Amino acid sequence: MSRFVRQEAPPQFDECRKYLPFLRRDFRYRCAYCERPETFLGGEEFFEIDHFQPVWRFLEQVTHYPNLYYSCGKCNRHKGKTWPSDDQISSGFRFADPCQEDMYVEHFQEMPDGQLQPLNNCGRYTGEHIRLNRRNLLSWRQLRRQMAQDLQILAHAASRLEAGLAAQLSLTNQNQIREEIETLNAHIARVSQRFAL
Ligand SMILES: [Zn+2]
Repeated sequence: MSRFVRQEAPPQFDECRKYLPFLRRDFRYRCAYCERPETFLGGEEFFEIDHFQPVWRFLEQVTHYPNLYYSCGKCNRHKGKTWPSDDQISSGFRFADPCQEDMYVEHFQEMPDGQLQPLNNCGRYTGEHIRLNRRNLLSWRQLRRQMAQDLQILAHAASRLEAGLAAQLSLTNQNQIREEIETLNAHIARVSQRFAL
């Protein structure tokens, strides 16, 4: 995915939770860190507000909208109150900022089994503290990879169907078209069910 770009311009609230509707839209209904969508995790009740810069260190940021990130409960708890020291920051050990960079491109390489390999110290720090290689995230990434493959199959089948329809159809061709449609529907159902689309 690309980085998250905020579009909303909420007023200044005195409580974080009042920003939730704005955050949900700005983070496209998914966790800023693991990128799992609400539909995959079971709904918005599994999501919380993370202070990217933790309140204990940056109290003035407590209701500052740009410091609020939409996060699943797990990522939020793992990230917790962690913040790098000045020495760590000077060596590149810091949290990747999903509003500033596509961390899955710049700081990690995703392996076929879903593991993230850090590409630099930022990736090491982020991956370790948010535990981005936890088991549930490996299966999520494998599933996302499978979904991408399924969608490729769909697109390929659709183009074959279109080519077939453009020709004069014999009975044999009609049967082939029906088979293609069944393939399409089976894959659509699979993707829809897994991602509650
Ligand atoms: Zn998460």
